[in-house]
Amino acid sequence: MRNIALLVFLSFSINAFGQKRAALEKPNVIIILTDDQGYADVGFNGSTEIPTPGIDRIATNGVVFTSGYVSYAVCGPSRAGLLTGRYQDKFGFSKNPLLAPKDPLMGLPLSEETMATVLKKAGYTTGAIGKWHLGAHPSLRPNKRGFDEFYGFLSGGHNYFPEELTIAKIEDSKTQYDGYRTKLLRNEQRVEETEYLTDAFSREAVHFIGRNHENPFFLYLAYNAPHAPMQATEKYLSRFPNIKDSKRRTYAAMVSAVDDGVGALLNKLEELQIAENTLVFFLSDNGGPTSANASDNTPLRGFKGDFFEGGVRVPFALQWKGIIPAGQTYDHPVISLDIFSTAVAISEVSPKNQLDGVNLVPFLTGENKGIPHQELYWRNYAANRFAIRTADSKQILETDKIFLFDIQKDISEKVNLAANQTNRVRELTKLIENWKMSLMDPVFMGLLEDKEYSKLHPDRYNKQ
Ligand code: CA
Repeated sequence: MRNIALLVFLSFSINAFGQKRAALEKPNVIIILTDDQGYADVGFNGSTEIPTPGIDRIATNGVVFTSGYVSYAVCGPSRAGLLTGRYQDKFGFSKNPLLAPKDPLMGLPLSEETMATVLKKAGYTTGAIGKWHLGAHPSLRPNKRGFDEFYGFLSGGHNYFPEELTIAKIEDSKTQYDGYRTKLLRNEQRVEETEYLTDAFSREAVHFIGRNHENPFFLYLAYNAPHAPMQATEKYLSRFPNIKDSKRRTYAAMVSAVDDGVGALLNKLEELQIAENTLVFFLSDNGGPTSANASDNTPLRGFKGDFFEGGVRVPFALQWKGIIPAGQTYDHPVISLDIFSTAVAISEVSPKNQLDGVNLVPFLTGENKGIPHQELYWRNYAANRFAIRTADSKQILETDKIFLFDIQKDISEKVNLAANQTNRVRELTKLIENWKMSLMDPVFMGLLEDKEYSKLHPDRYNKQ
C-alpha cells in the first residue's frame, strides 16, 4: 500500500513539476580539494592542534575514508587523475607540467574528457575555482575543458596576498615561478583581486552556489592552500598563539582559512535547503611535504612525492545527507578516481573513455558489502617506481628495491616483509606488470626538466 502511494506521489511530482523537478533529481556535486595538506591535519583524522570544525562537518554528516588515496603523490598528475577518473599514466600525464602558455601539449591531453565535460552533457552548470595546473595554453584552460565558469589561476601554485599579484597575464611570465604572481582570471578576463586568496576562493564558491542552485551544478573548488608559499593573514595567524614554530603556525592559519571557507559553503547549502541534494567531497591532492610547509602525515611514513602512504593517502571525506548514513568511518581503500565514477553514476550520463574508479554510493549505503577495489596502482615514470595496494598488502617496486608491508597491521610501513614473503612479492609484481601494459610514456616534459625545456623551446616566454 505504502509503495503504491509512493509511486502515485512520484509520478504526480514528475508531472506537476515537469522539467525542473527532473533536473533537480540530479544531485549537485562539489569537490573541495586542498593542496599539500597532511593526513593528520584535519580534526576528523584526530588533529587537535589545528581545529577544523567546518571540514569536520562533512565527516559528521557523512563518511570519513581512513584509506582514501590519490592517484599520484604530487599536484598535477593527481589532478589529472581526479578530473578524468582515469589513471593519468594511461594518457601520459606522468609529471607536473611546466609553465608553458604557448605549448598546446603541456597539460591535459584533448583526448581526455573532464568530469565537467561529462556532467555538462547531463545538464549540469560547471564551475572551477582556484588552482588549475592542467595547462596554460588557451586550448587547455578550464573554459575549454568543460567548465562554464572559472575563477583562479593556471599555474602550479600561487602567492596569497593580492598586492603580490603584479604580473598582468601569464604570457608575460619570464620564469617558471612567475606563474605564482599573475593576476587572477575570471574566465579569460584578468581581474584585480583584493582579498587574501583563500578567502577570495571561498567567496567565489558561495556565490557560484547562490547563482546556480536552481539547476544541477558541479563545483570544483581547488584551494591552493596550504601549498607554499607560506602566507597567512593576521586574522588566521592570531588563532594559533601557542604554535611556536612559525612555519607550522602559518600552515595552521592557512588550513584554518580553508576551514572557514568550507564552513561558509556548507552553510550556503543549508540556507538554500539543497544539502540533501548535494554530494560534497573533501580531500587533499597529495600528502604533506612536511619540510616545505610543516604539514603532518602522522602516523604515515613519507611525504609528498613518495609512494609510502604519506605521499598518497590523504584526508578524505564525503557527505550526501539523507542518502549516505552519517557518522561513518569507511576503512576499505578508495581513490580519488572514484569521485568521477560516483558522479556519472548518480547523474546517469556516460563518459567517452573507460573509467578506473567505482561508484562509491552502494558501498556507503550498505547495499554492497564487498570492497570497492581489488587493487590500486601508482607509477612514477622518471623514478621507475611502482606501487600497489590490495586489501591487506602494499608493495613498492623500484629498480633495485622492493618494499612489502602488511598495511592493515602496519600503517606506518615500518616492517619490510619483501625478503621473507617472496611468493607474495611475485604475485604483486605480476599484477603491476600487467597494469603497466595499459600505460603510456609521458607526453610532455615536466617540472624537473625546466632548464632543458627552455633550451629546446627558446621562444617559451615572450620577449620583453
Ligand atoms: Ca599538491
